[in-house]
Amino acid sequence: MKLKIALVPGDGIGPDIVAEAMKVLGAVCDTYRHKMDLSFYLAGGVAIDTMGEPLPESTLIGCSESQAVLLGAVGGPKWDNLSGDKRPEKALLGLRGNLGLFCNLRPAILYPQLQQACPLKESIVEGGLDILVIRELTGGIYFGKRGRNESGDAAYDTMAYSVGEIERIVRKAFEAAKGRNRRLTSVDKANILETSRLWRSVVNRIAADYPDIAVSHMYVDNASMQLVRNPKQFDVIVTENMFGDILSDEASMITGSIGMLPSASLREESFGMYEPIHGSAPDIAGLDKANPIATILSVAMMLRYSFALEDEARTIEKAVSKVLDSKARTADIMSEGMQLVGTKEMGSLIAEQCKNK
Ligand code: NAD
Repeated sequence: MKLKIALVPGDGIGPDIVAEAMKVLGAVCDTYRHKMDLSFYLAGGVAIDTMGEPLPESTLIGCSESQAVLLGAVGGPKWDNLSGDKRPEKALLGLRGNLGLFCNLRPAILYPQLQQACPLKESIVEGGLDILVIRELTGGIYFGKRGRNESGDAAYDTMAYSVGEIERIVRKAFEAAKGRNRRLTSVDKANILETSRLWRSVVNRIAADYPDIAVSHMYVDNASMQLVRNPKQFDVIVTENMFGDILSDEASMITGSIGMLPSASLREESFGMYEPIHGSAPDIAGLDKANPIATILSVAMMLRYSFALEDEARTIEKAVSKVLDSKARTADIMSEGMQLVGTKEMGSLIAEQCKNK
């Protein structure tokens, strides 16, 4: 198979971590005999410096003509004084919006080897955590009508959802649950919100097509409490835009390791954009200190969701786990008795492991 991928390293540690992710993808492609068709594009601060805008048209066209996009991170102090549309972060929103990426997948994984990093009690997370939060990304209150009255002393934001918008994200969630532990929790506020009642009815209708998935509904206030009380009860969580924004941050933070968490933003067909959840970490850029694992795991998600290469995705995930077993740690996940390695060595160790299927 030939994988046509757009690479957008961006700023700060972006180029460092994307280079390691490519090392790992190269090893997996060698092992499984796939070919790579890679193109590099500029976005963020580096694009402002060289082309005068955070998201040049050539980047947008290049990304939309590929099968998947791997993004590092954008932004940094150099561009902090720029305003609004000129800021590096504009590239992210521009890519997500222009590419129609309505489905945001954020796994919150706590590897048993990194249990000390978790802020929750050991008894709650013993054996690790593996939750997938699926957030609707292009609808709801963030995109609804908003405004102020004439005197400016009252304001409103509108939450609106159509059946079509709910159905497409909910189907993605059922499909994701199928490949995992077959439990889906739909989070809403159906005791108050009409959009949530519509959401719930769509989930119940689609559930009939997936009799082997155990579906439950949970109010968002309860879900935010349950995530810290008993996170292991969750497998896949699906929810609307604003609830997902808040819950996905909560879920990722209970793992305590920002350098470890990948994400995917998808649309109807297989195209997707993949990126670590962290930023450009300018404080450690170019110092061989960044943890490349979030980006490497983003490549695993890319293989799974854009190329349907499940074995290849699992090979990367298993390789990460094996390398953690071997006690190798970048500085952000370092603890007593472990062996400190740099960005490049961590990438090489994982790539090496990927040569064993
Ligand atoms: P950040 O995530 O870049 O860094 C927060 C802290 O975590 C820093 O101490 C950093 O060194 C550390 N860190 C982050 N990723 C790491 C990794 N892979 N390995 C080891 N340590 C890591 O967040 P910030 O400092 O708030 O933002 C820095 C810049 O990144 C800002 O310009 C911000 O706008 C931008 N940003 C970009 C994205 C994105 O591109 N998706 C997301 C968030 C922030």
